[in-house]
Amino acid sequence: MAISRDDVLAWINDYAQVIEQNNEMLTDLDREIGDADHGANMNRGFKAVAAKLPANGDKDIGAIMKMVGMTLLSTVGGAGGPLYSTIFMEAGKTIGPKMEMDLADWYAALQAAATGVANRGKALPNDKTMLDALYPAVDALKAAIEKQLPTAEALRLSAEAAHAGMLATIPLVARKGRASYLGERSANHQDPGATSTFLLIDTAAKAWADC
Ligand code: ADP
Ligand code: MG
Repeated sequence: MAISRDDVLAWINDYAQVIEQNNEMLTDLDREIGDADHGANMNRGFKAVAAKLPANGDKDIGAIMKMVGMTLLSTVGGAGGPLYSTIFMEAGKTIGPKMEMDLADWYAALQAAATGVANRGKALPNDKTMLDALYPAVDALKAAIEKQLPTAEALRLSAEAAHAGMLATIPLVARKGRASYLGERSANHQDPGATSTFLLIDTAAKAWADC
């Protein structure tokens, strides 16, 4: 199996649409425990990314990912922008100048992305952040690769794990980011960043189901 450069472009393009469709939902989640801008932030960033994709049709996967990271950094402020930028910069660095990648490359990229976010934002597991969706996705991919599962199944399992991780943020008390200012009152709300991260992994599983 192989995930081509064109598959990566399709995933990013699909995600820009998914973010547009979920803009209000993400903002509503952020209204509960933040400042009601996560949907707008992500939508602004990925609209700018989508506008640049046609000019990147000949680039390798690492270069495409880095372009996404740079664009997010320059268009999205707050905590979410630099952290999402880190996801794509680290993934791009890890994959490097490849025109296609396999599941092991994708796993290494996501693992580096999670490590990069943790280094930058200093969040630990169960701090109620995007990492609570990302770490389970990485772990599920590792397990699926060890079992030599087919690509589509491995990607689906990683998306299911990210979904479970997203839902598991609901009872948590936030220990990082704006939501942490609320203390105990941040419990019983789903984390917006974990939700957009689940959507990122889920969109990859759908975009690459035939790879
Ligand atoms: P801001 O909090 O600056 O308004 P966003 O609303 O775009 O930025 O993003 C909020 C999301 O960012 C949170 O839901 C959380 O998932 C994530 N986040 C915040 N701080 C951190 C951190 N230190 N580490 C990881 N993720 C974080
Ligand atoms: Mg916010």
